[in-house]
Amino acid sequence: ALLDKILMTVIEVSGAQNGCLMLRNAKTGKLETLAQKITSGSINDIPDDIIQKVYEKGEAIVSTNVSEEEKYSIYHSILINGVKSVLCLPIKSNDEIIGICYLENKLSSAVFSPEDIDMLNSFLAQAAISIENARLFKIATTDGLTGLISHRHFKFILEKEIERCKKHKKQFSIIMFDIDHFKNINDTYGHQAGDLVLSNVAMAMKKVFRNSDVIARYGGDEMAIILPETDEASTLAYAQKLVDTIREIEIHYEGNKIMTTISAGIALYPKHATSPATLVKAADTALYRSKAGGRDRVTQYSGNYVFYGQ
Ligand code: GH3
Ligand code: MG
Repeated sequence: ALLDKILMTVIEVSGAQNGCLMLRNAKTGKLETLAQKITSGSINDIPDDIIQKVYEKGEAIVSTNVSEEEKYSIYHSILINGVKSVLCLPIKSNDEIIGICYLENKLSSAVFSPEDIDMLNSFLAQAAISIENARLFKIATTDGLTGLISHRHFKFILEKEIERCKKHKKQFSIIMFDIDHFKNINDTYGHQAGDLVLSNVAMAMKKVFRNSDVIARYGGDEMAIILPETDEASTLAYAQKLVDTIREIEIHYEGNKIMTTISAGIALYPKHATSPATLVKAADTALYRSKAGGRDRVTQYSGNYVFYGQ
């Protein structure tokens, strides 16, 4: 969302038609296109030759009239694509090039002036700070293996959700689930196979739930989901869909096909509990009912349990 906003702003102020933002992937070291906006035609091919030049040199390339300027004849890609104006800028953070901003206009020449470079460089320097902050925030709030929200951040969001729902008299639900006999997978196939199962389960969760749901790794093989403004019937349907989905997943590891199931528990705010701790406890209690009942199922908290330390 942040990158889309940055790109929209850059396109608007520069008069570009099309543009994209690429950032360096810390793991692979390669540039990845993370935001793209096309208002006219298409960026047939993002011109690798220009991108690479800007990335290596750290200096912007601007052309007011691509077809007439001799030096652009070396950049075959834009000539082939019929681009009239092009502006490509490095995105720098602390003098390190973290990405590229590419802009083009296919209809008009002289869209970008050299003065635009100064203005956009200042803007992109500010944007780079926001990008780095967003990256740090992501590292601090997500689990490295699964990419899901971390336990600590889940608790923070749960508190905020309860505050919000108290104020606006809204409801929400949580689902807690735990992988069945997960220890057996580690013991049989090794810890790496277990890790692969965890990341596959996380991917399945991302497919089943909505963007507005908060999907977290609660700890070990236990996951938690907050479903804002979701009633009992819908929560049950989502939880059952997740249980059914995970039962069907085939995970291939070193020639073995690993299959697994999960047991889930559901609790609703404010029906079952009104504090973070009691709500989690209620869902956890229901989860262990699912385990005791034979696993691979969903149980809704029924309110017949005594809580300690409320
Ligand atoms: P149950 O059906 O009762 O939940 O059985 P279980 O075997 O899943 O339960 P248990 O809590 O005994 O096992 C959870 C295991 O998860 C134990 C722990 O070693 C393993 N585990 C926790 N975190 C990770 C992880 O990040 N990677 C891997 N591979 N294993 C993990
Ligand atoms: Mg387990």
